[in-house]
Amino acid sequence: MTAVKVLFSGAVEADLPGLFKKVETANKKNGPFEALLCTGQFFGAGSSAILTALPASKAPLKYLGRSGVTNIKGLNVAFLDGVYNHPVYTGKVQPSADTASCPYYTPDDVALLKAQLQALEGEVDVLLTCEWPRGLTTGIQGPLPEGYRPGNSGSNVVSELVALARPRYHIAGGEALHYARPPFSHRDLGAGVRVTRFVGLAPMGHPAKAKSLHALGLVPAAAMEPEALCVVPEGCTTSPFELRQAKREQEEMNAGGEFSRWQQPGGGSAAKRQRREAANTPQPIAGRPDVPRDPWKTVVVKNVPWAAGEEEIAGFFAQAGQVVNVWRGTNNRDGRVQAFTHVQFETREGAERALQLHNCDFNGRQVFVEPSTAGTAGSGRRGPGAAAGGSGDGGGGGEGKPVEGCWFCLGSASADTELVASVGEEVYLAVDKGPITPEHVLIVPIDHMSASVGLSPQCFAEMERYLSALRSMYASLGRELVAFERHLSLRNKGGNHCHINVLGVTPAAGRRAGEAFNAAAAAAGYKLELLPPPTRGSGPDDLRRQLHQAVGGPDSEYFMAVLPDGCRLVRPLMRGERWPMALGREVLADLAGVPERASWKQCSSSPEEERQRVERFKQLFKPYDVMQQGDVDGNGAAAGPQGQ
Ligand SMILES: [Zn+2]
Repeated sequence: MTAVKVLFSGAVEADLPGLFKKVETANKKNGPFEALLCTGQFFGAGSSAILTALPASKAPLKYLGRSGVTNIKGLNVAFLDGVYNHPVYTGKVQPSADTASCPYYTPDDVALLKAQLQALEGEVDVLLTCEWPRGLTTGIQGPLPEGYRPGNSGSNVVSELVALARPRYHIAGGEALHYARPPFSHRDLGAGVRVTRFVGLAPMGHPAKAKSLHALGLVPAAAMEPEALCVVPEGCTTSPFELRQAKREQEEMNAGGEFSRWQQPGGGSAAKRQRREAANTPQPIAGRPDVPRDPWKTVVVKNVPWAAGEEEIAGFFAQAGQVVNVWRGTNNRDGRVQAFTHVQFETREGAERALQLHNCDFNGRQVFVEPSTAGTAGSGRRGPGAAAGGSGDGGGGGEGKPVEGCWFCLGSASADTELVASVGEEVYLAVDKGPITPEHVLIVPIDHMSASVGLSPQCFAEMERYLSALRSMYASLGRELVAFERHLSLRNKGGNHCHINVLGVTPAAGRRAGEAFNAAAAAAGYKLELLPPPTRGSGPDDLRRQLHQAVGGPDSEYFMAVLPDGCRLVRPLMRGERWPMALGREVLADLAGVPERASWKQCSSSPEEERQRVERFKQLFKPYDVMQQGDVDGNGAAAGPQGQ
């Protein structure tokens, strides 16, 4: 995808003729630009100037709103209008009834934006605010922008938003000066560090003509390689807001003590250390472009000796099997070369044997060898054995504990409990919030577990019983069951909460379901593996083991489709691979004959419609609901309708 050219402006203060003149010049020189985004005070005293200038502009003007996240030309743009006002923000003074014209944001405006940021699946490309974040220059060594008062300028509300949004760019008006801060990095929450570039723009009519327009060519984060988002540029500092936080914590700890000095985690010495380490890291290895990458035949190796090159690595691993490719990418977390190397073998057996080289000595260093599909979470968050334990005790590493803000944790405030249609021992069934068809449901473990293959045997078996019961219910409607599950770690959102999307489709659509999933995956460059349906006499535990093997372990990220005959189509995702987020939903909507309903926007309904839909589904499902009949030892067998 090519870059989107966008212009940003500081406070316009009703000087539209001036704005259009500048934009025209910029457009001629570096354009054409696809959008102009304005921050700071847009209107001013001279509203007559606006009325005369608007028709001449020929440009559609749009007010983004008080706060929220929107998508402009593929870019995720988060915004907050207004500035901080203590009496308004603390509720001592009511804002004017016409909130659209209130110059101050309220806690509601901020809460709305925070909620949208939490729910956003991708990255924030741009954050727009009308004031600077307080403490922006903390940690900067050298001169500060002239006229800037670090202790008074900007607001803490905006600082908090920057820390939450972790935007790639933050463009703000609100100060009578122009300033581009050196980029700063936010700490790694599991998916790599993120870097923000701040640009403060002066008002249009700045007396000394300080810069009020800024041009950017931005490729949306959604179209970028995940590694590219973690690149740390030259001169990057630690997030000033994290530094301030660390300082506050240190001061609290030291309160009353002798030490009032805190250690700058990202100060000058840290930068030096980073540079020193960079000189010692391994070099990237491009790998062979002509060898199709196959996660099942690949292992990930950590702690490879720095000096070892491609041939030496291939030579070492030849003892496990024939090596066909070796590669090591760049910029996994710190903008440096990845700390791990991929080694692909001719056969799956080769990769399996290579796992036995784990902890072996390679030129004086112990190498760590893992399946390539072991999820980017890596670093042993959960040992492979953990999956066999009960899920009731929560397993290791916090998995199983309720996550605040999770839609699927029944105990969370954000949970849609009114959509729940049946609750079992460890699993529940909920009608989908934006259903493709009225009988579109989700099977969800009650505990916050990330993926079905990582569930305890009991929990997994219960999910299978629900699938089986649904299959019978759809059959009574002349429909066949298709389903999918997608497991992406989503570590910066508290981790994925496992859910299987299930739908009934016509027999004709059921017949082409496998083909449809395969075609959609192929279009994205992936090949799915077909797992045959469980044989007679084999239980859910056999299937669970089979899936384990196919995806490469309980921590793996993967996509899995379930076909009407019980076959599974599976594809584990390698580190750094991107799976199209909407793929499963698009295939289901297509099979259901309503491709337009792949888009969530087409599927919203009123609370009353939703209530009726849940009620209808409950009635429909009742005769098949094994959990409600106390028949909990069904062993995966389909429960037939009673007395029919
Ligand atoms: Zn959850």
